[in-house]
Amino acid sequence: MASSRRRTLLKVIVLGDSGVGKTSLMNQYVNKKFSQQYKATIGADFVTKEVLIEDRLVTLQIWDTAGQERFQSLGVAFYRGADCCMLVYDVNAKRSFNALNNWHDEFLTQASPSDPKHFPFILLGNKIDIDAGSRRAISEKKAKEWCVSKGNIPYFETSAKDDYNVDSAFLCIAKLALEHEHDQDMDYVCGAKVSPDTYYS
Ligand code: GDP
Ligand code: MG
Repeated sequence: MASSRRRTLLKVIVLGDSGVGKTSLMNQYVNKKFSQQYKATIGADFVTKEVLIEDRLVTLQIWDTAGQERFQSLGVAFYRGADCCMLVYDVNAKRSFNALNNWHDEFLTQASPSDPKHFPFILLGNKIDIDAGSRRAISEKKAKEWCVSKGNIPYFETSAKDDYNVDSAFLCIAKLALEHEHDQDMDYVCGAKVSPDTYYS
């Protein structure tokens, strides 16, 4: 197949309640830095990072919210052209887990991807470094059940603080997005093939 539609830029949307660690995860992934201080992100739209995936140089354009997630009003530009979506909750904050359905629905409504059933999502349970012992709010089992209920979304437990599983999670979503893009290319080829027949019938 011709590679005219081959693209190496992937738009990654990071969503979840305020305070779960979205900005910290991005900062750890892109700059290898972590800050204890809580700072609402100001202004910045996205950061980029280049990764090599199976000999292909891919630029991840990772979109962060500027604190507007509190009002759940991120605007169309934020979602437009998203290739994948990373949902984040805090394993010690039940509310942030309960909010995942809303974020998932919100994404599908706003981004309205052509193939919502197979759109690449990933879930991150962050702040795994905080040892809450048996008081941990959400068990790994519960999180995985949610993932299964949404069509087998991959799940990673992460720590932006300790840089645990951060690279793996971003790499996973990038790979999923590339595979999804490939599947859509195939649909497109089939679509182009059948359209003349449809036209003449
Ligand atoms: P956001 O609102 O989702 O962007 O969350 P932030 O990235 O601003 O993080 C909120 C707070 O949680 C900050 O004080 C961070 O330092 C802290 N934080 C973020 N990730 C972690 C983590 O993995 N472990 C711990 N212990 N704290 C974290
Ligand atoms: Mg933030």
